[in-house]
Amino acid sequence: MDLDLERKEMYRPVTTQIVEALCQIVGQGDVLVDREALEAYSHDETVGLRAEPEVVVRVTSAAQVSQVFKLAQAQRIPVTPRGAGYGLSGGAVPVQGGIVLSTEKMNRILEIDPQNLMVTVEPGVITGDLHRAVEAEGLFYPPDPASLDSCTIGGNVAEGAGGPRAVKYGTTRDYVCGLEAVLPSGEIISSGGKLVKNATGYSLVQLLVGSEGTLAVVTKIILRLLPLPKVQVDLLVPFDDFQAAADTVSDIIGHRILPTALEFMEQDSILAVERLLGKEVPYDDAAAHLLIQLDGNTPAAVDADMELVGDLCLGHGARDVLVAKDRPTRERLWEARRMIIEALNHESPVNHMEDVVVPRAAIHHLLRGIKAIGRDRGVRIVNFGHAGDGNVHINVLKDDLSGEEWAALVPGITEEIYRLALSLGGTITGEHGIGATRRQYLPMALDGVQIELMRHIRDLFDPNRILNPGKIFP
Ligand SMILES: Cc1cc2nc3c(=O)[nH]c(=O)nc-3n(C[C@H](O)[C@H](O)[C@H](O)COP(=O)(O)OP(=O)(O)OC[C@H]3O[C@@H](n4cnc5c(N)ncnc54)[C@H](O)[C@@H]3O)c2cc1C
Repeated sequence: MDLDLERKEMYRPVTTQIVEALCQIVGQGDVLVDREALEAYSHDETVGLRAEPEVVVRVTSAAQVSQVFKLAQAQRIPVTPRGAGYGLSGGAVPVQGGIVLSTEKMNRILEIDPQNLMVTVEPGVITGDLHRAVEAEGLFYPPDPASLDSCTIGGNVAEGAGGPRAVKYGTTRDYVCGLEAVLPSGEIISSGGKLVKNATGYSLVQLLVGSEGTLAVVTKIILRLLPLPKVQVDLLVPFDDFQAAADTVSDIIGHRILPTALEFMEQDSILAVERLLGKEVPYDDAAAHLLIQLDGNTPAAVDADMELVGDLCLGHGARDVLVAKDRPTRERLWEARRMIIEALNHESPVNHMEDVVVPRAAIHHLLRGIKAIGRDRGVRIVNFGHAGDGNVHINVLKDDLSGEEWAALVPGITEEIYRLALSLGGTITGEHGIGATRRQYLPMALDGVQIELMRHIRDLFDPNRILNPGKIFP
């Protein structure tokens, strides 16, 4: 069905009366309607996707979210939740207009509980702020999306976000023990708690994690913590041969070593970062780098892993193994890794990013296949990312292609990349989600029975489909 037609039939416009009612709920200062303000909420970090909301509300409590939902239900207005707008699949973009509900003001760390190794936060807390707060208490919250200094914990929960440390410590999903959430009906539920175990009925907590803001708005989050590892070391390993670097990733895992992080960066990504930051990365003439983090509680244990990993890298032809032990040097290495997406956007403002994931042992096959796709289609593809998880970010750059050539290329190459990942036992997104940009491809990855089950679940939570319409489902 044509989207505009669907919208006219399903949703009503936001009127002056509705804006006034929203002002009654959150206060006039937190209802935004002027053009400039709306523009800032019309996109996330997905290249080329924009849709303006009719109004933005900045909520400060679950009770306010509940009232906004009751109003939106009565008036049939779509509501799109938003954290920091750092998503990469358009999840926070209000593709059907209506209300953007921003959690940016719900940014308090409510309690750090060292007795239970738990922290309770509001959804708008910036992930990096949470890291620093718990680390000051000798505690550790491992999930570390590369966007951590900008994105929110609420967005991380909604996307089930990962990050480099997922190799050893898992993703956001593995740390969420309890949630308070507001359903589209306006009802407020509290599920789970400061519990390491919970066998009471279906886990609504785990259902909401990764639901991409389509089932409920999360308003409070209880996360599990770990003791902070005492020793951390980072290794930067340059390779002259792209494939040797890829093979090393599979070999490290095959040798039963689980680094904290095992990132892969192709030369073009390193050069783009150098140009953006105006700083040199060692061995920038190498075809690819691995950035490997190891941690543990004693220097001896970490040193033993470091020796083994170093030997494996050199055995695969690594040019060198650079060791960073002190925090400032380690931070410099990670700065380069975290800036890659921004640097590639700078390099080729029109580009297309994919986020496929395959079983860890198949990562070298994936990287080889992607290179072949780029060669066959005569387009520059830059790969980087969480190779130790089998999850690679694939950036197809437009460079000098004409608009028509680019428009003709993208759908075909996207399908080809997905077919490759699926043929290796993988799937079409590891952490960025389906959102607005991948929904037409969902049937490539999931059969009809599963998609129908998911639709029924969504309709149970949100029968009138006012919450984040136009996401996930084809
Ligand atoms: C440079 C860069 C690096 C990145 N690196 C990584 C990475 O390493 N790993 C990774 O997983 N991702 C990464 N991402 C993607 C992104 O940062 C994550 O998906 C992050 O979780 C988004 O958080 P956010 O607060 O910006 O969410 P938003 O973009 O605002 O929203 C994302 C989704 O969550 C929903 N949502 C937000 N808040 C709530 C809430 N309180 N309740 C219900 N739904 C909500 C929105 O509706 C939307 O569907 C990266 C992005 C960039 C730009």
